[in-house]
Amino acid sequence: MTAHVKPKALENFKARDFRMLINGVWTEGAGPALERVAPGHGIVVSRYPAGTKADAERAIAAARKAFDDGPWPTMTGAERSNILLKAADLIAARADELAFLDCIESGKPISQAKGELGGAADIWRYAAALARDLHGESYNTLGEGTLGVVLREAIGVVSIITPWNFPFLIVSQKLPFALAAGCTTVVKPSELTSGSTLVLGEILIEAGVPAGVVNILTGTGPEVGAPMTTHPDVDMVSFTGSTGVGRLTMANAAQTLKKVSLELGGKNPQIVFPDANLDEFLDAAVFGAYFNAGECCNAGSRLILHKSIAADVTARIAELAKKVKVGDPLDPTTQVGAIITPQHLEKIGSYVDGATKAGASVALGGGALDLGLGQFMAPTVLSGVLPEMTVAREEVFGPVLSVLTFETTQEAIRIANAIDYGLSAGVWSRDFDTCLTIGRKVRAGTVWMNTFMDGASELPFGGYRQSGLGRELGRHAVEDYTETKTLNMHMGARTG
Ligand code: NAD
Repeated sequence: MTAHVKPKALENFKARDFRMLINGVWTEGAGPALERVAPGHGIVVSRYPAGTKADAERAIAAARKAFDDGPWPTMTGAERSNILLKAADLIAARADELAFLDCIESGKPISQAKGELGGAADIWRYAAALARDLHGESYNTLGEGTLGVVLREAIGVVSIITPWNFPFLIVSQKLPFALAAGCTTVVKPSELTSGSTLVLGEILIEAGVPAGVVNILTGTGPEVGAPMTTHPDVDMVSFTGSTGVGRLTMANAAQTLKKVSLELGGKNPQIVFPDANLDEFLDAAVFGAYFNAGECCNAGSRLILHKSIAADVTARIAELAKKVKVGDPLDPTTQVGAIITPQHLEKIGSYVDGATKAGASVALGGGALDLGLGQFMAPTVLSGVLPEMTVAREEVFGPVLSVLTFETTQEAIRIANAIDYGLSAGVWSRDFDTCLTIGRKVRAGTVWMNTFMDGASELPFGGYRQSGLGRELGRHAVEDYTETKTLNMHMGARTG
């Protein structure tokens, strides 16, 4: 049994008791609270109400009323924009508190959590700008006496369901755009990391978002999330999480033909040619594989190396990965934090065992690390992985890097595309043709060239195939939360 040592930063810490936000009122749960044990510290840090189907129904009714009666959807874009800008300022002002919650509840390093908060505040500002620029089209070329106007109207009530791996960042990729469009919302964060989303509720009230426009529920997926995907008063579901639950969400939403936006899993390849700048690549490979302990939809978990460089590059990656600092998430020098739950740590271990049984070799790591704090996994490199092995096809969601090899460009493309996912990919070469060929042929929503995992609020993000449906961020992100309406107008006497 691991001895749990309370770090200095948590010595005077008391677990925080949260409430849900329904129709502008902070609400207790009916039954016992859900307790969150910090993955990096082994102590209870947060308690959230265990919401029920009845809570979901009350939240949906509040969002419906707030949409149908206004004023949120009928405010001017400038008015909504100003409120979103105020929210961005408040997020920045409370960034340390929010980052601390994300760090202790998810086990991610505090320095990384702070970086995510900076990115999130920028997204709220970007969405605020888009709120003023939402517009449709007009056509005066349809014949004399006819004018066509295409309006963009808010789609209505949106259910927003988020995962545990980037708690504040992911809700920020959805909610400000839905609000910018004039939608009202019911938000459900993961039952493992709900704290920062609930603090966001306080921020939005302070910023001036009217009651009922943002409702925040806590609880499990089957109890609270499922009714958010089936209820007839919900017009759209925006979901980020596993491909399995995404599939279920789409099936549930199909009962009443709701629009769905899905951001799901990934198994992202990085293809490396012999002429690449290998120093740059090595740094990005280690970052791509171990950022957020590999618990990242975008993790660069599959390296596809040209055979001529594979042995040398694998050895150099193992050497670099050995130096990555795994430890207390609250330590500002930690680079890789804890694994989300003990069960998930076991699952990661079983992928490594399966890979070695199938013939792969462990070039580094391979097992859990006992740091006396919580659950941790050693950065792991697997060499000799073949495209058909489970570890090369499924999302491990842990710090496990699989190394595959190729000989021709066509073979690299074939291996990269030979899985069900298509979220992101990387290519490393100094040759423009090579980069562009891979960029065009790899079926993924983002392809990085000579870099990895860079992002910006302006750039759309999302997946091909079973990595999802739709795109977040970018200038069309607000439009995703709208319907178009055609006004076909006639002037004068109708002829024919
Ligand atoms: P998950 O699918 O288990 O849970 C996601 C959310 O869905 C949680 O809030 C959960 O409570 C809820 N949920 C569970 N069952 C539900 C149901 N029956 N109905 C409605 N909601 C339900 O995912 P997770 O373990 O929290 O997150 C990890 C997964 O998320 C990984 O697969 C990862 O790749 C994916 N992810 C994707 C992106 C992306 O942008 N593509 C980003 C982050 C994470």
